[in-house]
Amino acid sequence: MARYTGPVCRLCRREGVKLYLKGEKCYTDKCPVVRRAYPPGQHGQGRRKLSEYGVHLREKQKARRVYGVLEGQFRGYFERAAKRRGRTGDVLLQYLERRLDNVVYRLGLAASRAQARQLVRHNHFEVNGRRVNIPSFLVKPGDVVAVRERSRNKPFFKQFAPNASRMVPAWLESHPEELRGTVLRLPTREEIDAPVQEQLIVELYSR
Ligand code: SF4
Repeated sequence: MARYTGPVCRLCRREGVKLYLKGEKCYTDKCPVVRRAYPPGQHGQGRRKLSEYGVHLREKQKARRVYGVLEGQFRGYFERAAKRRGRTGDVLLQYLERRLDNVVYRLGLAASRAQARQLVRHNHFEVNGRRVNIPSFLVKPGDVVAVRERSRNKPFFKQFAPNASRMVPAWLESHPEELRGTVLRLPTREEIDAPVQEQLIVELYSR
């Protein structure tokens, strides 16, 4: 399962917004987007005017980077979304939000999506009592996501303290003290705080 393994703060600086890829550091003034608010690289501080295509492309790249999804899989989500009823952009974001690594992060059981992904890959989570180690697993309403019994004694979970500044979205119910949460329903667009304009992504892929 491929994933991006380069420096992640570079990705935020490229997009010019905080994508919250690093956990606690993102909430401090050490965040490079605050310290160096210009794109990375030798010409990062030069003037840059994006073409129309560039604007659309950046929006898609931003969405991919927020959720840690590579191009092929992202395109797959788009194609599935395009076949579903409803606004394609909304359905696309819904697919991304339903990923298990995202849900673990949203429930406050990991500091970042990357950490959530690693915890899932390392067999620490179950869905409805069954082990699931696939970060792209799509949850559905009624699913109970929990840390597995045998993982609860691991130092990471013993010392686990949820970040109080992070809000759990209304479509999820979190019980961090019990290391579990429930999917109440599918998220609406208003409940997805990803900083992307999904319509631009739809236009890009529809060219
Ligand atoms: Fe992005 Fe977080 Fe790095 Fe800031 S600290 S640039 S928000 S990953």
